[in-house]
Amino acid sequence: MAKTWSLMIHGGAGELDLVRKHIDAQPYLESLQIILEYGQKILRRGGTALDAVEMCASMLEDNPLFNAGRGAVLNEAGKVELDAAIMDGKSLNAGAVAGITRIANPVQLARLVLVKSKHVLLIGNGALRFAKQHGSKTVSECYFITDKRLEEYNKLHTTMRIKENQKHGTIGAVAMDKRGNLAAATSTGGLVCKSQGRVGDTPIIGAGLYADNKTCAVSTTGHGEMFMCTVLAKHIADLIAFKKLDAASAAKQGINYLKRKVNGRGGVIVIDKYGRCSARFNTRTMVHGWIERSGEIHCKIK
Ligand code: ASP
Repeated sequence: MAKTWSLMIHGGAGELDLVRKHIDAQPYLESLQIILEYGQKILRRGGTALDAVEMCASMLEDNPLFNAGRGAVLNEAGKVELDAAIMDGKSLNAGAVAGITRIANPVQLARLVLVKSKHVLLIGNGALRFAKQHGSKTVSECYFITDKRLEEYNKLHTTMRIKENQKHGTIGAVAMDKRGNLAAATSTGGLVCKSQGRVGDTPIIGAGLYADNKTCAVSTTGHGEMFMCTVLAKHIADLIAFKKLDAASAAKQGINYLKRKVNGRGGVIVIDKYGRCSARFNTRTMVHGWIERSGEIHCKIK
């Protein structure tokens, strides 16, 4: 059994204009700290990377500060449509869901798809049916909608003049457990005022996340269309596989590639197979935190 473990989480890139909008960073940092402490407990006692990323992603979904689960952004019709995915780096198995309503924790449904379904990605009503068949509880659609999101929707959907830095936000977690197994999870409400039925990168394996014990675990956040067209999470894993880069160089080259190829904006968190952690973004902020190789907890917004 490997001696060390690592954990990283993020709460989205680009959304927070801390200075001009007088946003208090403290609640974000405190939330990251608490969630990392929970993840730490799982990984310290020898729990799996999959359990750790599912738990951390679920806690981020439950927290209305972040654009996933409760507090997710609203689409053009003022409704919530959620996407999530989880991937096991040991088996390369994955589960994903898209266009989800009425499931409080889409990442848990994605895990159910990973474990119980012969498919990788389920959408909309079919996914909801699958959830009910497996005993998942449903919530009312009002559960997800917070005052902050309603206000944002009312302000933006009439003009539809949405700045790039107002669109983003999502959550994700990557981990390496004591056995050296890697896992990644990502969950989102997508882009503010997105078209109905729009699915971004988050539930797309290789774009919004990737995990392979032979290389790394990656979770991305940002303008999803750009991450889909560059298959960015897998691109980063390939940089590690074929160019023998470490997490930091691969994350840096990945974000450079995103910018150069499609002028994309966003961020990534990466843990490589040695447990080295890296966060990289080309937006103003990315809410993120990490524990590298069983060390201290770090939380940052910039
Ligand atoms: N990538 C997500 C999407 O496009 C949003 C985000 O990460 O901010 O749906």
